[in-house]
Amino acid sequence: MTEAKTRRAAAPLLLLIALLLAATTARAQKPAQPDAAQTQAALRTLSVAGSVLYVAAHPDDENTALLAYLARGRGVRTAYLSLTRGDGGQNILGSEKGALLGLVRTQELLAARRVDGAEQFFTRAIDFGFTRSPEETFRFWGHDAALSDVVRVVRLFRPDVIIARFPTTGEGGHGQHTASAVLAGEAFDAAADPARFPEQLKEGLRPWRAKRLVWNVFNFRSADPPKDAERVLSVDVGGYDPLLGRSYTEIAAESRTKHMSQAQGTPERRGPAPNYFAHLKGEPATRDLFDGVDLTWRRYAGGETVAPLLEEAARKFDPARPQAVLPQLLASYREMEKVSRRDEAGRVPLVEAKREALRGVILACAGLWVEATAAEPYVVPGGEVKVTTTLVNRSDFPVRLETVGASSAGVDLPRRAGPRTLQSPAAGARRRARGARGTDAARHAPLRRSR
Ligand SMILES: [Zn+2]
Repeated sequence: MTEAKTRRAAAPLLLLIALLLAATTARAQKPAQPDAAQTQAALRTLSVAGSVLYVAAHPDDENTALLAYLARGRGVRTAYLSLTRGDGGQNILGSEKGALLGLVRTQELLAARRVDGAEQFFTRAIDFGFTRSPEETFRFWGHDAALSDVVRVVRLFRPDVIIARFPTTGEGGHGQHTASAVLAGEAFDAAADPARFPEQLKEGLRPWRAKRLVWNVFNFRSADPPKDAERVLSVDVGGYDPLLGRSYTEIAAESRTKHMSQAQGTPERRGPAPNYFAHLKGEPATRDLFDGVDLTWRRYAGGETVAPLLEEAARKFDPARPQAVLPQLLASYREMEKVSRRDEAGRVPLVEAKREALRGVILACAGLWVEATAAEPYVVPGGEVKVTTTLVNRSDFPVRLETVGASSAGVDLPRRAGPRTLQSPAAGARRRARGARGTDAARHAPLRRSR
């Protein structure tokens, strides 16, 4: 197929993507428009097909330097599973305690993830206050209920590597810390066992075995390696990213500072930041956390068609003309969907996450402005609200508007706009759709919270 044909075929898809993205990220702020360096950094991570899950007990337990290094530096899909929402902690900002404080700290975690690039999961476990004992912790949480939630996240996310923040020995101090390590170890095995929590399999989840489980060894108070450093894996997470203009430890400090209710602001650090990992389960690693894991698209059936398209896009990316790589990006978007469909479950979580990220890169490369504003800030179920959607094509790439709609956030927006070509580059197009209808879908909040 010639490039011109590819471009024509691709154009309608382009705008449908834009609209779905707009629907899922609508909030009362100006849409973020990444610059060319951020777009190039995002493009780089699309080529990496690996994932890692970090497990601890509370908001602020997570190692944000490691999360930033993994998500931004290595480009692997990265998530933090905080077993609780920190309901039992202190609040230096306001009077919220208990569940209300849990809400505050949930938002602080989500804000931190938007900075360091990782995703966020929780379980139903409640932070009931300090205890030294994992046994007491399980009396409050219910061991099997908590384990079931951790197993569910592992089966949902399918991490290549699981990292526990704390050891099972009690050195983590808080009994909930120790319990998080116990659960990470038990979930490593239980997630792979179809006999454990079979009700999850009936819901469409599948057993999953990570390649390995490691402990992110403490090294808080010393610049020196831990005493048994020769037996643990060492990874420097202090690298500098010229595209972002920051090192991962600088990003980490900004992420950490989002834990405002706990006064967790920390100064930015630069230079080497060695982290240490002790082997716990699975195949031991000797050189890298992802030893033996294929981090390329070739790990998936059909992925061999995705890899060269993304590689070509990365090679040809021109910051002054990012739209020039849209044909490769649109083609890889379609190929990713085929890869996901080939999986026996009909979808691969990592592939779906990469497709979502690719949608953002496509929008950024096209310079498309997509914005939806509502006349009223809220709508009750069954009510109506007028929504005005503004679309501006600011590149010379041909774009056709197929439809205007929304399929998430509990909003059912009638699709009223007909096909129309968006003029480029100077002229914009403005489409208006009325009558968004509130539904009760938002009540069924999923366990996973996107970043
Ligand atoms: Zn903690």
